[in-house]
Amino acid sequence: MTEPTHDEAHGGALGSRLNWLRAAVLGANDGIVSTAGLVVGVAGATESRSALLTAGLAGLLAGSMSMAAGEYVSVSTQRDSEMAALALERRELRDQPEAELRELTDLLASRGLSREVAREAAEQLTARDALRAHARVELGIDPDELTNPWHAAWASCLAFTVGALLPLLAIVLPPAGARLPVTVCCVLAALAFTGWSSARLGSADPRRAIPRNVAGGALAMAVTYAAGSLLGAAGA
Ligand SMILES: [Zn+2]
Repeated sequence: MTEPTHDEAHGGALGSRLNWLRAAVLGANDGIVSTAGLVVGVAGATESRSALLTAGLAGLLAGSMSMAAGEYVSVSTQRDSEMAALALERRELRDQPEAELRELTDLLASRGLSREVAREAAEQLTARDALRAHARVELGIDPDELTNPWHAAWASCLAFTVGALLPLLAIVLPPAGARLPVTVCCVLAALAFTGWSSARLGSADPRRAIPRNVAGGALAMAVTYAAGSLLGAAGA
């Protein structure tokens, strides 16, 4: 069939754990930025604590459910195409085992084994579990470890909620006069941390990732605060 194209071929347990961690950090980052923008915008328009709590909580729920639904759909689609690829592979193994053995031999040889060793390895892998060998070498997936869409949905829902709680608590807990400075400081510090974490997990340079991430959050809060202040002033 096709050559392995995606990195998961080189992944494994550590790779998939890193992917989960990165997804969690990104989900939390989303929760922080969108909820911070929301509550700071409302704070620009009103001093009412109940309005802030209502807006923040609604934003948290809407965002976490939207994240969960999006993740469920995208992982389900990926899983469907992996299942279809496995089904095709199963059919090919049944209908043309010789061609499949040659294919596995070629793939192993293209990874640096000599023809004889590749043939021997292909025969042994085929004798043990042909489908699994083809799934891993050819498709780069592990048939026993396909991502569960429900797990992915729950994880991103949880990550977003954890992130969203920070600006929500920071805006409703302090007295009215301290709300904005407390929220802005907490949010920017948290974004520095998530920027640092995602850079480290992706082996990128944190000195570039942190300012970008912090600037993005600062911009979001500045824009919604300006819009909230304008609307608040117009309504008053
Ligand atoms: Zn195959």
